[in-house]
Amino acid sequence: MAMSMFRSKQRPEPLERPFVHADGCKILKNDPGVELEWSEVERGHFERICVCGRQDYYVPAAPRTQLDPLDPATGHHLGGCEFATATDPALLKVLLKVTEKDGGYWWVQCGSCAAGWQVPHYAESVG
Ligand SMILES: [Zn+2]
Ligand SMILES: [Zn+2]
Repeated sequence: MAMSMFRSKQRPEPLERPFVHADGCKILKNDPGVELEWSEVERGHFERICVCGRQDYYVPAAPRTQLDPLDPATGHHLGGCEFATATDPALLKVLLKVTEKDGGYWWVQCGSCAAGWQVPHYAESVG
C-alpha cells in the first residue's frame, strides 16, 4: 500500500519512541505513564516538551536531484551556435562560464554564441 507517511499508521520511527525524561522529572513522578504528544511547530519539524527537557524531530527532506550547470540538456544556445549540440564535458567546461548566483541557481554563459541561461541547483521535485 502506497500511502502518505503521516496518514498511514506508519509514522517515522523516531516519533514512536518514548520520551526519555530526566531523572527526577516532576511530570513523570506525578504520572509514570505520561505520554508526551508531538506537535508540528512548522512543516516537517516536530517537537515535544516536558518540564525536564525537550526533543526535536526533523522529517528528512525528500532527496532532490542536483543539476549540473554543464549538462548539455540544460543549455539554451542561440540558434546557429556551433556548440549547441556539444556534449563533450571537457569542451563544455572550457566553453561555458558558470557563475554561482544568490537564489539557488547558476548563471551559465556560452563563450561562443554569448547566450546566457539559468540552471537551478536542484531539479524541481514533482509531486
Ligand atoms: Zn519529563
Ligand atoms: Zn553557444
